[in-house]
Amino acid sequence: MIQQSIDLKDLNSWKVGGRAEHFCQPGNVDEVRQALEWAKENKVKVTPLGGGTNVLVSDQGISGLVLQTKKLKGVAEVLTTDRLELTVLAGTPKFELMRAFMKHRLSPALFLSGLPGDVGGGVVMNAGVREKREPREFCEIVDWFEVIPFDRPDQVVRYSKDQVQWVYRKSTGWDPGVIVRVGCSWPMQPIPTLPKEIKAANELRKSKQPLEWPSCGSTFKNPSPELSAGQLIDQCGLKGFQVGDAQVSPKHANFLINLGQATATDVSNLIQHIQERVKSEKGVELQTEVRRLGEW
Ligand SMILES: Cc1cc2nc3c(=O)[nH]c(=O)nc-3n(C[C@H](O)[C@H](O)[C@H](O)COP(=O)(O)OP(=O)(O)OC[C@H]3O[C@@H](n4cnc5c(N)ncnc54)[C@H](O)[C@@H]3O)c2cc1C
Repeated sequence: MIQQSIDLKDLNSWKVGGRAEHFCQPGNVDEVRQALEWAKENKVKVTPLGGGTNVLVSDQGISGLVLQTKKLKGVAEVLTTDRLELTVLAGTPKFELMRAFMKHRLSPALFLSGLPGDVGGGVVMNAGVREKREPREFCEIVDWFEVIPFDRPDQVVRYSKDQVQWVYRKSTGWDPGVIVRVGCSWPMQPIPTLPKEIKAANELRKSKQPLEWPSCGSTFKNPSPELSAGQLIDQCGLKGFQVGDAQVSPKHANFLINLGQATATDVSNLIQHIQERVKSEKGVELQTEVRRLGEW
C-alpha cells in the first residue's frame, strides 16, 4: 500500500515540485487508519493531500508520508422532510458534492460549482466565493466532520461545526490529522432557476480567470472584504511579470500561472517579489492563501 519516491508534479494543479518520500492513496477509512499507524510506528511525518489545488509543493519534495485522499470518495444521501443531509468521504471532488445538491436544485450547488479540489480540502480551507451568496463558504454547509489524528490513529474524532473556528480561507481548532468524512446539509428549498444561475456564474469565472493555465487559483488572500489582492498587484503594474516560467496572469493578477517549465522555486520567488512590491508601493502585507508543503 505504501509506495516510495512518487513524483508529485501531476498531483497538484500548479504542476510543480518534487517527490514524496513515501506515498499512499487509501481507498477507505480503515486504510487511512492503517497508513497512519504505519507512519506512527516508523516515526514518519504525514502530509495529507487532497486535489492539490491550493498547495505549493517544494522542489525538494516532501519527506515522510504523503497521504492522498483521491480514492476515498462517495456521497450518501438522506432526505428528511425539510432537509437534505449528505455524508461525504473527504476525497470526493467538490463537483460531486455540487451534483448532489443540484439534483434537488438547492443553493449550495451555486457556490460549489466553480470550486476545484476535494471536499476535505474545502473544509481545511473553508473554501468559498467572494460574491455575496447564501451559502458562499464551506462553514455554512458543514454540520460535522471526522478526523483520524496523526498521534492517535486508532481513533476517529468527530467535530461538530460549532467546535471549530471558521475564518476566511481557514478552519482551526481540530486535532492535526486526516479528515475522512464530512456531514453537510441544507434546507429543502429548491430554486428552479439554479441551472441558469450556475451557467452564468461559470461563464463569468471563465471570462475573468486564466483557467487554461496551471495555477492554484488566487495565490493571496484579500487583505479585507473591500480590498482585493488582485487589484493591488495590478496597480503595482505586475500583470505579466515573470520569474522563470512563473507569471502573474495578464488576465487576473492574483493568479500566478505556470507557462510550462516553472519550478516551485520560480513560483516562490514570484510570490516574494509581489509581496515586496505591494508592501513598498501600497503599504499592504499580502498573505498567501496557498499552503507550502515539503522542505523549504
Ligand atoms: C483554478 C482554481 C480556482 C480556485 N478558485 C477558488 C475559489 O473560488 N475559492 C476558494 O476558496 N478556493 C479556490 N481555489 C483553491 C482551492 O481549490 C481550494 O482551496 C480547495 O478547497 C482546496 O482543496 P484541495 O482538495 O485541492 O486541497 P489541497 O490543495 O490538496 O490541500 C489544501 C490543504 O488542505 C490539507 N488537506 C487536504 N485534504 C485534507 C484532508 N482530507 N485532511 C486533512 N488535511 C487535508 C493539505 O495538507 C493542505 O494543507 C481555486 C483553485 C484553482 C486551481
